[in-house]
Amino acid sequence: MAKRERSTQAKAAAMIRKHLKTEYPHTTFKVTSRGFAGGDSVDIRWTDGPTTKEVQAFTGQFQYGNFDGMQDLYEYTNTRDDIPQSKYVHCQQGHSAAAYRDMVSILNELRNWNLQVDENAGYNTIVDGDHHTGNGWASQEIYRSLITYSLICTECKAGTLPADKFCPQCGAPTPVTCHLCEQPTPARDTAEMYGHRYCTSCYLTEVEYSAIR
Ligand SMILES: [Zn+2]
Ligand SMILES: [Zn+2]
Repeated sequence: MAKRERSTQAKAAAMIRKHLKTEYPHTTFKVTSRGFAGGDSVDIRWTDGPTTKEVQAFTGQFQYGNFDGMQDLYEYTNTRDDIPQSKYVHCQQGHSAAAYRDMVSILNELRNWNLQVDENAGYNTIVDGDHHTGNGWASQEIYRSLITYSLICTECKAGTLPADKFCPQCGAPTPVTCHLCEQPTPARDTAEMYGHRYCTSCYLTEVEYSAIR
């Protein structure tokens, strides 16, 4: 029987799956690939765990280029012949009810809000206290904040929740999000300036910048 050659998107998905499993052993990723008229895609789904930015730092190389909405055409700007690629590599991170609730409590305390979570809904939703903030709805800020939190221990890779100050698994301090580059950084590699935490390299850049300002 003739063996069917695996599509390039299936090969890309396999490489991505393998890498994510090694890099984030405690997070479950669902990596699927498909072909359709006019293209193909790899879809990556997971709940909590690393940020989309962190995952994309690895998966970005598997995408040929980008769709330019202005010109209505796909531009092949990242074509490589050393790895299998796909036209679209999508990352879709979901958040657990526990992570969502944690973030609501953090924002309520930080901003003096009174958002109430629906405890019975099957999905994350606010039943009371939502309001305009001058920058959209308060409830939108929950997701805007959640996507910047890396819910992965930088030491043992176990899953964490937004309100955890220490990893429930190994006790290491949970990563801090750099105010400038938004990269999750181990607390010991950050420094504070004007009430914000920065990763070491952004801190140095900012210090130099403020010195000439
Ligand atoms: Zn840990
Ligand atoms: Zn930084």
